[in-house]
Amino acid sequence: MTRTDLGMPAFPDAAREAVRDGVLRANLRHATHTIRDKRARAVAELEDWDRLRAAGKAVKDHTLRHLDRYLLQLEAAVTAAGGTVHWAVDADEANRIVTELVRATGEREVVKVKSMATQEIGLNEALEAAGITAYETDLAELIVQLGHDRPSHILVPAIHRNRAEIRDIFRAEMGRWGRPAPDPLGDDPRELAEAARLHLREKFLRAKVAVCGANFMVAETGTMVVFESEGNGRMCLTLPETLISVVGIEKVVPTFRDLEIFLQTLPRSSTAERMNPYTTMWTGLGPSRGADGDGPSAFHLVLLDNGRTDTLADETGRQALRCIRCSACLNVCPVYERAGGHAYGSVYPGPIGAVLSPQLRGTDSEIDASLPYASTLCGACYDVCPVAIDIPEILVHLRERVAQGGPVTRHGIRVRIRPAHGHTAERAAMRAARLLLDRPGALRAGERLLARARRLAPRRLPGPGAAWTDTRDLPSVPAEPFRDWWTRERGTPQ
Ligand code: SF4
Repeated sequence: MTRTDLGMPAFPDAAREAVRDGVLRANLRHATHTIRDKRARAVAELEDWDRLRAAGKAVKDHTLRHLDRYLLQLEAAVTAAGGTVHWAVDADEANRIVTELVRATGEREVVKVKSMATQEIGLNEALEAAGITAYETDLAELIVQLGHDRPSHILVPAIHRNRAEIRDIFRAEMGRWGRPAPDPLGDDPRELAEAARLHLREKFLRAKVAVCGANFMVAETGTMVVFESEGNGRMCLTLPETLISVVGIEKVVPTFRDLEIFLQTLPRSSTAERMNPYTTMWTGLGPSRGADGDGPSAFHLVLLDNGRTDTLADETGRQALRCIRCSACLNVCPVYERAGGHAYGSVYPGPIGAVLSPQLRGTDSEIDASLPYASTLCGACYDVCPVAIDIPEILVHLRERVAQGGPVTRHGIRVRIRPAHGHTAERAAMRAARLLLDRPGALRAGERLLARARRLAPRRLPGPGAAWTDTRDLPSVPAEPFRDWWTRERGTPQ
């Protein structure tokens, strides 16, 4: 992940700042509620949604179990179709490969299709350091790039911006990157979209190299699949001479037939559309591509690990690799709705970011150790997930890892990590709870004593516990322990 992300404060500090921003909260609330309501209606149209969800989960689980076999099959199919496959163990290697590929073309500019994988590795920054300018062509990514900002949502990276802010960004910045915004420019969505279209058109027509990701890769045919809504992706995928795809290794599916599931679940979960407007598929260079046909004459696929095989080694955490990046979990998350995406300090914000980033990056940094706690564990993310990732289960699993330490896989080697700093009180409380819960007699005596002394119970916890009661009321102690009540009412001791 990018070094910028890792320079972020821990989630509680970043979120505290964000929730004070009334405009941000209003923008997020409006956008997430609109998308979540539309998604719920789109999903309700399908009677077999539950079966589609189970099928998507099964395909992904099967693929992850046999990932080595399917990746080799994919490599063979892409190579046979005229593409070149590169393997990148981490972000640095992927950035080096892409930079060298661009340099070999002699070009100093690339156009980009929106891609989480390239954000994850900080590709734009790496290209910039090598003197190559990367132009984002997705409308929301363009807003983020022109605004010198960071994405705050998987699908709508500029969700935190309103129309007036976007107009101001276009007016101030477009001219520095290419064709300036028309003058005058209002904040009507159609005007803004037209300004972006004109600005981007000259980039599409000039670019010789494009960089993209992929939503899926089909092992049996070597086919790459990109879903998008604006048509910018198709321009990037067809007009330039060289096409470079950077894709996480978990994006492979075994057969072309498997796409039938995700073609239904992904658009409905992400943009609430029955079918996404543009689905572009290509296989290597194909018979109609290359020098004599349409499309790029060179295709490179960079298969990115960057912590994925380590994540795969964790039996509970590996389910995060099923994610198809629909962002439905963000739109229903009460924490995301208030804190916004930047607070997560990761290109993957929201519930999926809270479980994916600490696995891909490890829990050594303060921000990564804080992410598993960035949730109320309400379970709304699990309910909407089209591949049934049990995010609350992984959150609890990762909290245990942060507080207790334990075995993890790093760079393919099994190691035991130490507990993260700052969880001493939590560990002591859990140890005390275990001692007490293992001794029912002592627990009963303690409950009775607490009930008798309930008037002395503090409203706020002292010491490190004060942070917990700063924002919550301590529950009041009942006059009678539950077990005594049960025995009195039902007559059978519990
Ligand atoms: S975890 Fe599930 S709901 Fe969230 S982005 Fe991934 S696939 Fe979508």
